[in-house]
Amino acid sequence: MNNKLNEIANVVFPDIHLTIKDLERKYPKRNLSEDAIVTRFAPSPTGFLHTGSLFTSLVSYRFAKQTDGVFFLRLEDTDQKREIKGSGDKVVEQLETFGIVPDESYLDEFTAYGPLVQSQRKDIYHTVIKAMIASGDAYPCFCTHEELAETRKYQEENKLLPGYYGEFATCKHLDEKEVLKRLNNDEDYVVRFKSNGKADKRVSFKDAIRGVIEFPENILDIVIMKSDKLPTYHFAHVVDDHFMRTTHITRGEEWMSSAPIHLEMFDRLNWQRPIYAHYPVIMKLDDGKRRKLSKRKDEEASVDFFLEKGYPIEGFIDYLMTLANSNFEEWRIQNPGANVYDFELSFNKMSLDGALFDIEKIKSISKDRLSLMDATTFTDKALEYAKQYEPKLQELIEIDRQYFESIINIGRDQKKPRKDHEKYSDVFDFVSFMYDKYFYEMIQALPFNDSFERSLIKDILDEYIKDTGLSLEQNEWFNNLKDKAVSRNFAARPKDFKKNPGDYIGHVGDYAEIIRVAACGKPDTPNFYDILKILGEERVIERIKYTKNLL
Ligand code: GLU
Repeated sequence: MNNKLNEIANVVFPDIHLTIKDLERKYPKRNLSEDAIVTRFAPSPTGFLHTGSLFTSLVSYRFAKQTDGVFFLRLEDTDQKREIKGSGDKVVEQLETFGIVPDESYLDEFTAYGPLVQSQRKDIYHTVIKAMIASGDAYPCFCTHEELAETRKYQEENKLLPGYYGEFATCKHLDEKEVLKRLNNDEDYVVRFKSNGKADKRVSFKDAIRGVIEFPENILDIVIMKSDKLPTYHFAHVVDDHFMRTTHITRGEEWMSSAPIHLEMFDRLNWQRPIYAHYPVIMKLDDGKRRKLSKRKDEEASVDFFLEKGYPIEGFIDYLMTLANSNFEEWRIQNPGANVYDFELSFNKMSLDGALFDIEKIKSISKDRLSLMDATTFTDKALEYAKQYEPKLQELIEIDRQYFESIINIGRDQKKPRKDHEKYSDVFDFVSFMYDKYFYEMIQALPFNDSFERSLIKDILDEYIKDTGLSLEQNEWFNNLKDKAVSRNFAARPKDFKKNPGDYIGHVGDYAEIIRVAACGKPDTPNFYDILKILGEERVIERIKYTKNLL
């Protein structure tokens, strides 16, 4: 044991009396089965939940759940300048909306492997750094910003690898007495890892998704503790994931090139290397070029965007699963109604290059998911959405829930349900005509097809009021309507009209549209018969009479 190094360690951390052994004892190996995956989501509280982060956390969460492992949430708040107060809690809330509830979270009062907020783990980091200084694996560095900037400039000009290494690592070779003197003089310092890496050597590891990966060894003496005494990401990752007994480091691909730094630290501390799984980054096609989905440029990079628009959670999760595993879509086609979590995710079915974000696909999947919900579930979820984002929809649902449900149920209870909605924010416009408050507003525009004379429209409406046929069952009702259309020289079938357009005024669809507009205030509605039945004969007649008077 080098006494001088010990002395330096004690000057840097006079109040730290714990040892790494104490920590090993306090955070023992988790009592789980061999193949249980312990993994985590480790957001920095710097803003909203990014769609890419939702993707990583969802997938990590599923891997833990699938293996009866542990998924925990750690708050990485060591960059206090970039911190946005409250954004961590908001992220937890948003994850919960997607059903991602961590087994251990930084918000829990007690967690056996906590605290799970990095700024509360100073003693743990300091214990490890103290031991590393004493063993010569780390050292204080007094270089100023100006000195470092000068080095960087020199390296750039001479096309050298930037960073603190070799001849540029001036504090690495400081005499120990000098170090003590400068510390005692209260000079500003950071602590750096003392790398043993060689530029001509390579390090390899097996990534769970990408197979064996090789990089040059790390040669940089990276900062592990900043002047504010907080750790950097690189160091905190190693210490936290060791003592939290993480088995799988599931994180974005952007961290892959830093893995040699982390591996060197695990090795030097004699800690078992975790398994790394570097997820693909979510990309976007922009002017034909692929680029990362960007917080600054893309509204769809924010999960909030989808929540505000009311995309169904189920659809979004399904979509993220298609990004995660190439065989998910096939599975979904075979199991349209199944719980998404019956699908078993696997690392080796993950795509290697960035997954391409496709809003059209989200829309189509969302339509599928919404069409497969029963009307009661749909109504529950639409109400939940409306309460938060759309009071006028909330009002419609709450006035008469049964009535709302019956509208939503149109075309739902059948083998191939209608796909009317893409998101909950579409629902209001879809149902509002069924409410008199909105119908009487809409009909003022008289959105009839201009090619029919007003007098003809009036006659048709008059005739319909006298005999709505609504006591008949659907086919008979339609035949009754068709007979009326034919008697006024509308073709009984659209294709007859198409063949000989000169022979008719229009076709039965045009005829029905006239009544539809008069009763609904718009030309497009789901199954007309169902609509009329729900409105009830009395209201239908009332509405048509009103419309007729406007003409
Ligand atoms: N705080 C890091 C980030 O937000 C976490 C990376 C990791 O999962 O290790 O990117």
